Amino acid sequence: SLTLVWFRDDLRVEDHEALSAACGDGQVIGLWIRECRGDDGLGPRPLGGAARWWAHESLRVLETELAQLGIPLLFAAGSAADIVPQAAADLKVDAVRWSRRYAPAARRLDAQIKTDLADAGRAVHSHTGALLVEPWTVSPQGGDFYKVFTPFFNAVRDREVGEVLPLPDEQSPLTQADRKHLDNHSWVRDLDDLGLLDGTDTGSGSFASARTPQWWRTTVAGHWNPGCREAARELDCLSDGLDGYADSHDVPADPDSTSGLSPRLRFGELSPRQLLAAALDIPEVRDDDRQAWIRQLYWREFSWHLTYHLPAVESEPMRPEFASFPYEDDLEALDHWCSGTTGIDLVDAGMAQLWQTGWMHNRVRMATASFLTKNLLIHWWHGEQWFWDTLVDADEANNPVSWQWVAGCGADAAPYFRIFNPERQRERFDPDYEYVGRWLGRGPGGLTRAERSQGDREPIVDLKASRQAALAAYDRMKSEA
Ligand code: FAD
Repeated sequence: SLTLVWFRDDLRVEDHEALSAACGDGQVIGLWIRECRGDDGLGPRPLGGAARWWAHESLRVLETELAQLGIPLLFAAGSAADIVPQAAADLKVDAVRWSRRYAPAARRLDAQIKTDLADAGRAVHSHTGALLVEPWTVSPQGGDFYKVFTPFFNAVRDREVGEVLPLPDEQSPLTQADRKHLDNHSWVRDLDDLGLLDGTDTGSGSFASARTPQWWRTTVAGHWNPGCREAARELDCLSDGLDGYADSHDVPADPDSTSGLSPRLRFGELSPRQLLAAALDIPEVRDDDRQAWIRQLYWREFSWHLTYHLPAVESEPMRPEFASFPYEDDLEALDHWCSGTTGIDLVDAGMAQLWQTGWMHNRVRMATASFLTKNLLIHWWHGEQWFWDTLVDADEANNPVSWQWVAGCGADAAPYFRIFNPERQRERFDPDYEYVGRWLGRGPGGLTRAERSQGDREPIVDLKASRQAALAAYDRMKSEA
């Protein structure tokens, strides 16, 4: 029998349940669609600029990896609700398989497509792949879903997640005639014609227009090698990121302080199960380092748990009282933040790292996000959208949930008055100006003593006064609630 595997955020060939099951049934054809959200709001959030670049590169690798298994990968662009049933009919497939996704608007679309395919008499199977814990399989006693991380983690940490699946066997290749037939359909596009590297259609605010599509291909590309082949090599080096993790994961200057695997997870070049299995299998790593890292993997699970249950997580605060928070959206200050010219070293260095590489260390993400939402009193939407467009790991769950957490309106956020002071953060986590020096272009050894005392840029806000203003705004919100 012939199966269509619809790839989405699972751009890998190993530990891929849908692909393995399809290969077990017979011949396989792969499909990837550059989806647009329809007027009905169904479908995934449109990819930001950095993610589009990553997807394009990663798909090229997937195409090669699948070809080695004898599986062609077809590309299309447009509404998945139209394309998937059309593709299934044109290719005369018996079944369609995919890995499940969990954002509410994408799930509703998948459900609709599933019904259409079933009505046309085709078998449809969805599989796990992106998560260790599917959101509907866990709930607190007497409640609908977990809103606090620790009880969630305690409920799921010891669950069996199954064995990592091996690479499927090679397929008997399609005949020349069948191959030719594949490309004849009106919906089939070349990967290069999907527009993933064009500068338009970011779905983001005015600031993204400052960046040309070439940017991703030149500057950011120098820092990454997208695709499941390189992801597998990085997984083999996981011990570098895990070694000392418990003590040093907050040191942004050290490239091995964390794993750097977030874009691999975002695009499913690696499954969380592969990561978990690899972490459990490194004998030379101390157990507290291992456990601290695994805990972070479950933070990602928790973000998806919340996103599954909260359809508007990218636009509505989890704590409803924050809907009336008196933000002061100063667009000039926002521009300073985006371009890393706030005059606050750690913030500017973080925004420079993001701009240059499409990635930022977690400690600095927290500091930059706190500065935007609390010191500048700018709505978290703006920062979330900028990250969405510039991060190679921009994730429909982790990004908005983390922004809400920092802004104080997230379900499990720290109390609002615990405001990060970016200068104190720099003193604690970058005492020798190594990180700041690297990203602000002050030479390999960080800042010289003279440069440190010089303070060549005036901060755009006074940290103390703006902290007080944030607390006053918070009080105002509470008194009006
Ligand atoms: P490691 O420390 O090696 O951790 C391993 C994996 O665990 C990560 O790849 C990630 O999948 C997960 N993880 C680690 N920390 C967190 C966390 N705090 N919350 C949720 N999952 C975590 N992460 C994204 O993947 N995509 C985003 O769009 C994103 N946006 C963020 C925005 C803000 C404002 C903040 C504060 C954090 C954001 N994060 C996001 C979470 C975190 O910063 C990144 O996951 C982490 O920096 C990735 O680096 P790493 O792979 O080296 O992590």
